[in-house]
Amino acid sequence: MWALRPSALTVWRNKEVRKRLDWYYGVMTDAKPAKFLICKKLPADFSQRSDEAELWEEHERLVPEFAKLHASVSKGEAGLGDLPAPEKSFLDLKAEILRRILRSCHLCERRCGADRAGGEKGHCKLDHQARVSTWFHHFGEEPPIVGGGGSGTIFFTSCTFSCAACQNHDISTDPDNGAVVDGRRLASIMRSLRAQGASNINVVGGEPTMHSATIVEALKHLDVNVPFLWNSNMYCSLELMKILSEIVDIWLPDFKYGNDGCAQRLSSVKNYFSVVSRNHGIAGKNGDMIIRHLVLPGHLECCTKPVLDWIARNLGERALVNVMEQYRPEHLVARHPEKYPDIARRLTRGEIERAYGYARELGLVFEPVS
Ligand code: SF4
Repeated sequence: MWALRPSALTVWRNKEVRKRLDWYYGVMTDAKPAKFLICKKLPADFSQRSDEAELWEEHERLVPEFAKLHASVSKGEAGLGDLPAPEKSFLDLKAEILRRILRSCHLCERRCGADRAGGEKGHCKLDHQARVSTWFHHFGEEPPIVGGGGSGTIFFTSCTFSCAACQNHDISTDPDNGAVVDGRRLASIMRSLRAQGASNINVVGGEPTMHSATIVEALKHLDVNVPFLWNSNMYCSLELMKILSEIVDIWLPDFKYGNDGCAQRLSSVKNYFSVVSRNHGIAGKNGDMIIRHLVLPGHLECCTKPVLDWIARNLGERALVNVMEQYRPEHLVARHPEKYPDIARRLTRGEIERAYGYARELGLVFEPVS
């Protein structure tokens, strides 16, 4: 993913921000429990002998149960402290399903089918082990989510994309950098970030998708209240989106390309638009969200406009949008500019203004101050 700093020129109207990030702010200020904590209180019925189809059947049964509990917690009708911890919970079930998926990996829509649990590696060059490159309190994320203590950002290695202009290529193209973490170690990193004032736990990379089994395992061990933020290229499989839907408090997804041709040429990925728009639609029904769109030079008509059109049509009433202007020609584009002549330069002021103007015309909740 791009993992760029948001535009310093982009701010949002406070009232709209409060309205659209209502759940997130509730968890951030400890007025509400994070969704993963609600999942821990919902009893699940499964065993190690249950096959994957049976696990999914139980998962589907629990989705409406979760919705009921979430709604009553949200309205203040139920407190989690009054509920006993079940022997096996909805969160345990989700972690078990993710472990099964690793036997024939389809965590992302590349659907390699690699037996990562058995040590095989797919396109992302990762086996079952999660690797963390670094973590820190990030003050460069979008202002509404940074808060006083910064975003507790954890950078995972490797990626499901191969972006020619990747701004984080040191992390995304080297799966072996950083250190292996298991669920308990990752939970202790999350706990210390929150204890030191982090406003949220922000999983990013590279890309978090490939590491989701360890991430959900970590949430099982995490015993503090903190909003869980999914910061992703959104090329997750439908199965992973189902797992995440009752866990993620706030989504911070990229929506880069307005068509499959640009995505294939610049990120080597198929069926981009249908997958990523599907996942944005699911996310919008299941959590607060700030959608990031990085404007690419020369891609206003083919990418920026279709992406903003889609957001306005489908999530205009729901999501905040960050139209980002800080594209830089890095990585392969810097080394071989002749292969990528369209994106081998920075944006012009005119392109930035046209992108902002289009977002304004569509009525998206976004406000450049320049
Ligand atoms: S996460 Fe995606 S790229 Fe990696 S092995 Fe699984 S399906 Fe393949």
